[in-house]
Amino acid sequence: MKFVSTRNQNFAVTFSEALKKGLAPDGGLFVPEKFPVLDIQSLEALALRENSFASFAAEVLRPFLAGDPLQEFLNDICTSALNFAIPLKKLESHAAILELFHGPTGAFKDVGARFLAACMERLSQANKEKQTVLVATSGDTGGAVAGAFFGKKDFEVFILFPQGKISARQEKQLTCWGGNVRAFAVQGTFDDCQKIVKTALRDEELKAQRQFTSANSISIGRLLPQMIYYAHSSLRYRQQSGRVAGFIVPTGNLGNALAALWAKHLGFPIAKVVLATNANHAIVDYFASGQWRPHSSMTTLANAMDVGDPSNMERLRHLYANLEEMKKEVAAFSVGDEQIKDSIRKGRQRWNETLCPHTATAAFTYEQLSQQNPSQDWILVATAHPAKFESVVEPLIQQTIPIPPELAELLSRPSQMVKIPADFAAFKQAIRGLYSRII
Ligand SMILES: *Cc1c(COP(=O)(O)O)cnc(C)c1O
Repeated sequence: MKFVSTRNQNFAVTFSEALKKGLAPDGGLFVPEKFPVLDIQSLEALALRENSFASFAAEVLRPFLAGDPLQEFLNDICTSALNFAIPLKKLESHAAILELFHGPTGAFKDVGARFLAACMERLSQANKEKQTVLVATSGDTGGAVAGAFFGKKDFEVFILFPQGKISARQEKQLTCWGGNVRAFAVQGTFDDCQKIVKTALRDEELKAQRQFTSANSISIGRLLPQMIYYAHSSLRYRQQSGRVAGFIVPTGNLGNALAALWAKHLGFPIAKVVLATNANHAIVDYFASGQWRPHSSMTTLANAMDVGDPSNMERLRHLYANLEEMKKEVAAFSVGDEQIKDSIRKGRQRWNETLCPHTATAAFTYEQLSQQNPSQDWILVATAHPAKFESVVEPLIQQTIPIPPELAELLSRPSQMVKIPADFAAFKQAIRGLYSRII
């Protein structure tokens, strides 16, 4: 199996090479050159067995790693990375919620980050290379990536986050690590952070000093494992209800929703995939006008989705011949802050569920869709633990949210960070300072 650039079918590399490169040399993103044909029936039997999640994951991913040096480690990688619960809970007769937030940092990104780290650790052992992982985060990515790489001796992690634009508990999760993880507080937006990372990955001077790699949602090593929970839950939902559900996915950089679409293209029983965005409206505008006009990001209550220029849009567009084809499988909604608040209150009253502000965008979208068509089944994707956003959620539900033990432990550690202005030169300067101290 080869992965090709969204901009050039002829540029083809294996999974490991795509992992190491992050971006294709032409600036495009890696996508599978084709979707393998899977035996969905036998995968369904596997999915319905107890405690089969990791082996199900290995079976689905095996063709993507065909011919790759990581292939022989795939079972181990899945077992070590996907070692927490991903419950699918029924909400009402035509709706369920898929809780992706039971990993160590309480966000769905733990799945992709832990899989990526497990892959990269095995590659670095094989190649004896030290690597520097660069990650821009609008909140949760940095924590998940830091947690996944923390203490792995062949790696150093640089996290860039927009100062003051993330929740206090999110900031703690980025700055609490020490050791091989360093946090940079950028005086700018998430898009500024992402731009700095993209520039760094192509900077010849930095590349000469270090083997840089990216762990952002552009990394193919995060996208592939995210397909697993869509594949698995789609089969389980159909088995339990006899019907095929669509997914409503809280969307920012489009990595999570894209994985749902890739799972659909693999043949898993998935109806539409609906992108629930916050007030950042580039995707919704695109569906309405056919014009792709990214904008600078706006701050909302669902801050991990504050993205004006979603990096995986290029992959989404690559998946379809044109917008009409895309609309057959995908729809997009924009949800404002007041609607997010309403949905958090209602989620509690109606389902006795505590929703994080991101998940609330999916709940609001579900309400709209179920009014239009009450017989369509939906799985709402819950992307973060609500305890990370207690300052938003607790006043709305008028209750204290219990903090899961792993999260509580992280929050008790001291913080450390380097503050920089929002430009690449400042970042480069700051790293140079670090190097001189390290050397
Ligand atoms: C990152 C994140 C999202 C958005 O996911 P994308 O893959 O960037 O679309 C949604 N909710 C939470 C809690 C997140 O951390």
